[in-house]
Amino acid sequence: MDTFDNQEEFNADVSIVDVLLDLAKQYSVDGLRNLNRKNYDIALECFEAELRIKESLYKKDSPYSAAPYCKIGIAYYELRNYNKALDYLNKALVMFKMGGEVFLSQVAVSYNYIGCVYDKLGNSDKALEYLNEALEILKSVDGENHPTTQQILQTINRVKQESNYSKPKKDMKKFYSAEEVNSMSYREWMETIAKELNAAGFKGDGYSSVERRFMKNVAPYEVGNVSDFFMGAINDANAMNYLKSIGLVNNGRCPMCGSPIKGTPSQFTDGMNPNLNFYICNSCRKEGQGISVNHNSNSGCLGFFVFVIAGIVLGSLII
Ligand SMILES: [Zn+2]
Repeated sequence: MDTFDNQEEFNADVSIVDVLLDLAKQYSVDGLRNLNRKNYDIALECFEAELRIKESLYKKDSPYSAAPYCKIGIAYYELRNYNKALDYLNKALVMFKMGGEVFLSQVAVSYNYIGCVYDKLGNSDKALEYLNEALEILKSVDGENHPTTQQILQTINRVKQESNYSKPKKDMKKFYSAEEVNSMSYREWMETIAKELNAAGFKGDGYSSVERRFMKNVAPYEVGNVSDFFMGAINDANAMNYLKSIGLVNNGRCPMCGSPIKGTPSQFTDGMNPNLNFYICNSCRKEGQGISVNHNSNSGCLGFFVFVIAGIVLGSLII
C-alpha cells in the first residue's frame, strides 16, 4: 500500500515537471522569436520567465538552467547594455562548463558572445581571447569548414585587423572599470583621457612652431574647459578606439555631459568620420535632437551647446 501511494505521488510529480518544462520551452521559443524581431524587452521577459521555471526545477547553478542566462545575456548585448550582458554570459559560461561534453556547443556560444561584448567595448585583446576559445571548441565539435566555424574565424580576423589598426605606439595597458570611470570627477576623467592619449603617443590639433600654422597631430592633449575638451579636441578615430580599448570611453559614462549612462546608451557618430563614434546618454541624445532640453541639468547645458555646434559643423548624426 505504501509503495502504491508513493508511486502515485511520483507520477503526479513527473507530470507537473513535464508541464513546467513544456511551459519553459514555450517561453524560450517565444523569447527567441521576439529576439529575432528585435523586441528585446519582450524577449527578456520570456527568458526571465523561463529562468524562473528552470531554477525551480533544477539545483542551483545546474547546467540545465544555463540556457536562459545565456539568452538574457544575448538580449542585453543587443540592447548594448554590455555590463549586464557580461554578467549573464559569464554566469551561463560557468554553468554550461559544469555540464561537460554534453554542453560543449553552448560553452562555445557563451565564449563567442563574451568575445563580441569585449569587441564592442573596444577591448580587442580580451575579445580575441574569448573568440579563440569558441573557435577551438567549434573546430572540434563541428569541424573546420562548418559555417559557424568559418563565421567565427571571420570575426577573429576582423577584430585582429581593427586592433592592429588602432594599436598605440607604446603598449601600456591599463583597463579602467566602469566603477573607476564613474568615481572620477568630470575633470579628473577628462584629464585621465588626455594623460593616457599623450602617454600612448597620440597627438591633437595645435600650433606648429616649425610650420607656423595650426595643424593636426602636433600638440599634446590638454584639458582647458572640461566640457569642451572631449567633443572639441579628440578628432582622431584611432585615439577614440584606443580610449575604448582601455575602458575610458563606452564604459558607462557620457563624455558629453559627464553623467553616468543609465539604461541603453545612444551612439554619437561624427558625420565627417563614421569611424569616430562613442556612446552618450539618452538625455544628451534628446537634447541634441532638440526633443527636450533639460533646463534643470547644469551639467548637461554646456555639453548640449558644444554638441549642437559640433553637430552643425560636422553634420553629425545620432543613432
Ligand atoms: Zn550626457
